[in-house]
Amino acid sequence: MTFFEKAVANDSLGHAYIIEGETGSGKKTLADYFAALAVCAKGCACGECRQCVQTKAGVNPDITVISAEGKTSISVDKVRDLISTVAYRAVHGGRRVFIIQDADLLTPQAQNALLKVIEEPPAGVVFLLLCRQKSQMLRTITSRSQVLKVSPLSKEVLKQIVPQCGEFEIAYCKGNAGKLMQICADDEFKTFRDDAVKAIAKLFTHGEDALYDTADFFEQNKERKEDLFTIILYVLRDVMCKKTMLAKYIINTDKADIINSISSVLSPVSCMRAIEAVLEAERGMGKYGNYNMAVQTMLIRCKNAMKKHR
Ligand SMILES: [Zn+2]
Repeated sequence: MTFFEKAVANDSLGHAYIIEGETGSGKKTLADYFAALAVCAKGCACGECRQCVQTKAGVNPDITVISAEGKTSISVDKVRDLISTVAYRAVHGGRRVFIIQDADLLTPQAQNALLKVIEEPPAGVVFLLLCRQKSQMLRTITSRSQVLKVSPLSKEVLKQIVPQCGEFEIAYCKGNAGKLMQICADDEFKTFRDDAVKAIAKLFTHGEDALYDTADFFEQNKERKEDLFTIILYVLRDVMCKKTMLAKYIINTDKADIINSISSVLSPVSCMRAIEAVLEAERGMGKYGNYNMAVQTMLIRCKNAMKKHR
């Protein structure tokens, strides 16, 4: 039995829950399931009672959902509108569930308005506050809520969700099913990754001039620097696996030719130095924000690492 199933079965539900997890981690799916459980006539999200039929169709009057709707914040007015309806009795006579997506985007005034109703809610009312980081919310709210963290999903579960995904996509999404579904359906991401892996390979397998081409690629794709750094690190990690007889742990399984070609020109020590250079560039950018300089230094260091330890 899950946490929510137990709470519904024992009738020991709290008034407010914070569901914390990154975008695409399944917060809304969890909240929807919980809402279905909480309002179901049989208390089990049976899928058949009148409440469940309405819940499935997204028209259950006892479940209210608000979100930032693409805006940067949720205003106090929106929260006041919601609160004005909290005192009404449930249409079906059971519980009422209020789901607030993007709760970390509630303005401080909106959170204060919400606080009053969370402190003393009418009986049968449950708030589900969905957020990426609860640290973005007022302590007064978080301290009155039960916090549930949506943890990353296992490789096996992810493979069930998107059976056609590869090892790279699994590693890349870091347990986030939403992200996995998104990148597997995104042809532009596939092309970007193909080009990035080629640009990285060129740096190691071609002469000095390749440094400029790879630098150009990094500069042109500055907007996607986080993706780029993840891709280069996974490539170098795989080269290291290849060099150290741990080939079964390779993530870029669909890029075996490229991993082999880099591996043939890079010693384990050179590879380690290249990884160090990438990690330092990543940290450096965070501190000083100078992307181009950090990238140039990184690429030169990668190239030099090769010369010394071939
Ligand atoms: Zn039901």
